[in-house]
Order: sequence, then structure tokens, then C-alpha cells
Amino acid sequence: MEIQPLVLLIEDDASISAFIMAILTANQYRALRAVSGREGLTLASSNAPDVILLDLGLPDMDGVEVLREIRAQSKTPVVIVSARGLERDKVAALDLGADDYIVKPFGTAELLARIRTALRHSPKSMGSEPLGLASKVIGELNIDYQKRIVTLRGEVLHLTPNEYKLLAMLSVNAGKVLTHDTLIREVWGLYGNDSHTLRVNMANLRRKIEENPGSPRYILTEMGVGYRMAEE
Ligand code: CA
Repeated sequence: MEIQPLVLLIEDDASISAFIMAILTANQYRALRAVSGREGLTLASSNAPDVILLDLGLPDMDGVEVLREIRAQSKTPVVIVSARGLERDKVAALDLGADDYIVKPFGTAELLARIRTALRHSPKSMGSEPLGLASKVIGELNIDYQKRIVTLRGEVLHLTPNEYKLLAMLSVNAGKVLTHDTLIREVWGLYGNDSHTLRVNMANLRRKIEENPGSPRYILTEMGVGYRMAEE
């Protein structure tokens, strides 16, 4: 029998943890819970979880600090469990190497989707997605990473090199949020704030791939954070 992925939950709120732990065990995950940052770090290094769910508001230390210590030791995927309205903390955590976030209150389907995506992009990934992915189909889009050709309903799209890079980056990470800074750094090699260039390129890319750019189906806007490509 396959070993089920181990999820470490670092969360001090008893009712939220009870909710999350119930979902995890009902869905065949093995689950561990820590109620403080220190305990979380101890369990993370002694148990090597496959994914970590991390609350940013912990009693003993700042969640961002917990993340920094986790990242100093491992690449275990970390999904931030955040309260609404803490955009800046969320973005800081993502830029520090968190894989994704989920905002309270959330539903079962959303939680499970975030965990599945994090596991799929994890270094010790349990199957699927090989590293040198040759191509990807998302809805009616087909992205051929080797030939750098993108087709929509079988028709070749004419993308600029930067539009292609943007689409490639988002589609390789489909399902996962990428922050503005991450995209700017990966596509333009720039550090710092050039969100205008990103916005212009995104608008042009959406005009080429979306039927209705005002209500996109492929590349979704994560308000104040970044963009997320749909998985199918
Ligand atoms: Ca909390």
C-alpha cells in the first residue's frame, strides 16, 4: 500500500485546527498538529512532513519567522493559512518561499486543492509532473515548452518572448499563485517594483488567450498578491 502524505499543521486556534484535522484524516492524509511556532519547527525537522500548513498569527513567534527557519533547512512545500486583510504578510511569505496561501474562512474543496497542488510541485513529489515537462494542455490551450509554441484551439498564437515566458512560468506552476515580484524576477530578471510592465504584458497576453479578458478563464488575478493559472 502506498504511504499517505504527511501534513503538518501549525495553528494555535483550536476550532480551525479541529476543522482542518478532520478534513485531512477524512481524506486519507496523515496529519500532525503543532500549536506554536517552536513546536512546529521541532515537528517539521523530526517528522519530515510532505507539506506544511502554517498559520501566520502564532502565539510565540511570527509565522513569517517560522517560514524563514523552515526554508533555511528544507524545501518542504508550505501553504500559508491566513486571516483576511493581511495581504502584506501573505505576499511577504510567498516571496520568502511559501508555496501558496489559503484565506480563512475556507471550504474543504479549497483546502484539499491547495494541498494537492503543493504536493505536486514539491521536490519529493509523489508522482506526476516530470521535471523537464515537454508540453501542457490547459483547457483549449496547448503549450509546447520545447518548441516554444502555444496554440489555442489548434491555432498558433503570436506571443512576444516576454508574453511566452510569462505564460510558460504560470502554466508550469498551474494551480499555484505566483506573486508580482516572482513573475517580474523570473521573466525580466529584475528585482524591485516594475508592476506596470507586468500589468501591460498580462493585459496583452490575456487579449490573446482569453475569450473574455475582463473575466479570465485561464489566468486568474489574486488581488494584491499576483496571478494563478487554472489547472484545466
Ligand atoms: Ca492564529
